[in-house]
Amino acid sequence: MNTGVVVRVPGKINLQLSVGPLEKTGFHEVATVFQAVSLFDDVIVKSGPPNGGIEIKISGENTDHIPVNQNNLAYKAAELMAKKYKVSADLAIHLKKNIPVAGGMAGGSANAAGVIVGIDAIYNLGLKRDDMEKVGREIGSDVPFAISGGIAIGTGKGDQITPALSRGNYHWVLALSASGLSTPAVYNECDRLREGMSIIAPSVSEPLMQALRSGDAKELGKTLSNDLQAAACSLRPALRLILDVGMDYGALGGLVSGSGPTVAFLAEDEEHSLDLIVALKTSGVVGNVLHVGGPVHGARVIETL
Ligand code: ATP
Repeated sequence: MNTGVVVRVPGKINLQLSVGPLEKTGFHEVATVFQAVSLFDDVIVKSGPPNGGIEIKISGENTDHIPVNQNNLAYKAAELMAKKYKVSADLAIHLKKNIPVAGGMAGGSANAAGVIVGIDAIYNLGLKRDDMEKVGREIGSDVPFAISGGIAIGTGKGDQITPALSRGNYHWVLALSASGLSTPAVYNECDRLREGMSIIAPSVSEPLMQALRSGDAKELGKTLSNDLQAAACSLRPALRLILDVGMDYGALGGLVSGSGPTVAFLAEDEEHSLDLIVALKTSGVVGNVLHVGGPVHGARVIETL
């Protein structure tokens, strides 16, 4: 048994998010294309804190409102792993957060993925990625992708993952918002905006998949789409302005990531990313702007303590 590990987990962008109609169960079926990007949280998992039980500590910006109890997705992952694999649930978990909170980049899910991979490593469980994704699915729809990373299609609730063929690396500029958007609130707004419309079953865009297969950033930029974007912009009108500025300054494409409010712009290369960053910063409509790359790996141990 190892006493502790550091697991690095990525945030995600949805290159496409196709949302089906509201079902009787209260959920929406989705078809999505995820890309893991180089904005990481580090999840430190150590066995045996002095007081026993699951202890969650969080550091990073805007993290004050994240629960440190059983409502934290990392806590849920620890509890479930301990129960399923009959290992001790006495764990000290430190979440070092860089992925924006409630930003549409699935930071909480990535933290759960980090705990699953961390517990597997600490107790030498030797789990296959499929087994870990299965546990992740019980915690949240975005957890399996945070384990797999790369580029993948997500169907069902977004939790049924199939790796996608793709070529090349992509440069993104992320426009972060100081405060988050609640995912359920964005889905509710989406349903409100679609009232009276007939909504077809969600599907993955073939032109987008073709752009990924050929590694063509210009084509990819044209095919990005998100069915939640109108709802996120309706709740946060400033996002439209941000999207307009990025596109005016030559982004190959731009969209709200997931339920937002993070906006992702695709750039041609590193130099173009830096130009876009300067343009967005001087426009005064965005606070924090970052350059990230993708695809990157899923949750993985980077250090044994
Ligand atoms: P989603 O996966 O729903 O798109 P998101 O990326 O928009 O989520 P997250 O940062 O994952 O947003 O979390 C949204 C909410 O979940 C937060 O407001 C917080 O209250 C709760 N939460 C639970 N566990 C965590 C965690 N480990 N990190 C961040 N938020 C968490």
